[in-house]
Amino acid sequence: MKKLSLIVPMYNEEEMIPLFFEKINEVLSKIENYTKEIVCVNDGSKDKTLELLKQYKKNDNKIHIVSFSRNFGHEAAVAAGFNRALGDVMIVMDADLQDPPEVIFDLLKKYDEGYKIVNAKRVDRKSDSFLKRTTAEMYYKLIYKMSGKIKVPENVGNYRLMDREVVDKINALPEKNRVFRVLVPFAGYKTAVVEFVRAPRPKGESHYNYKSMFKLAGDSIVSSSVTPLKWPLKWSLGIGFLTCIGLLIDLILYICHLCIYKFMIQFNFGIFTIILFMFLCLSIILFAIGIIGEYLARIMIESQDRPVYIIEEELN
Ligand code: UDP
Ligand code: MG
Repeated sequence: MKKLSLIVPMYNEEEMIPLFFEKINEVLSKIENYTKEIVCVNDGSKDKTLELLKQYKKNDNKIHIVSFSRNFGHEAAVAAGFNRALGDVMIVMDADLQDPPEVIFDLLKKYDEGYKIVNAKRVDRKSDSFLKRTTAEMYYKLIYKMSGKIKVPENVGNYRLMDREVVDKINALPEKNRVFRVLVPFAGYKTAVVEFVRAPRPKGESHYNYKSMFKLAGDSIVSSSVTPLKWPLKWSLGIGFLTCIGLLIDLILYICHLCIYKFMIQFNFGIFTIILFMFLCLSIILFAIGIIGEYLARIMIESQDRPVYIIEEELN
């Protein structure tokens, strides 16, 4: 019999744990032809998440606890789940039930049809705030546009099923900047999509503030595309072109000025226009340096070669 591993990153989810296990066990009990494992990755929670997990584990040997030495972040927790899970098939899902567990039936159905990756796509996220929805939409559109040949699908987060073969390939990738929604399409393989409506979080709050969302966006762009590095060249060509036209106009005006002095209107751009134009150019240059900095910072992190996470305790 094949083994199904659920990978569930958890950070300060003490309020959600009872609800989560109740719901997930209800769903898992209906799945018959798999043995099951729930890999709960405690991402350095400061509340009672770990204690609660240990308590639940006493009565449920499906639970496999991986506990970090500190908070390493959502993507690191998913990476640890993939590395430590023992299943032949793996499904990543959030602990807050925003990824509805019933979707697992659809994911497994597609898997049985022969797909090695099954993405769960959010078709409706009315449960998220307006700002979160809008920024998420912008994020997915931007990543989709920039990701070149390897398209990162829109509105697909971490909720997905993967065969062991794909997981092994992704685990073997050397990079430290691990954004799974970017790495999975890189791996390729036959992929199916199932759609779901994102549920509201029943308890607790989102751990993604705008700073962490920007970081995720930066990591996703840098790891999926080098297009931003080419922007400064395009801008410099654009500015160069505009300057040439400006100089040409200036020259023509000057010649006209010499020939028919009395009849020409004197063009005067004014010092403020020139200063503003210089500020515009300066801001473009600084932005370009900023982009290079973003890439450089990630190269630095890669070259430091530190582990993505540190496991303090593992109970299986
Ligand atoms: N999470 C994590 N580490 C973090 C932040 C979040 O493991 O540093 C987990 C969290 O417990 C949840 C999942 O990642 O299971 C998604 O987090 P959250 O619900 O806060 O994000 P949102 O759904 O708002 O994007
Ligand atoms: Mg959530």
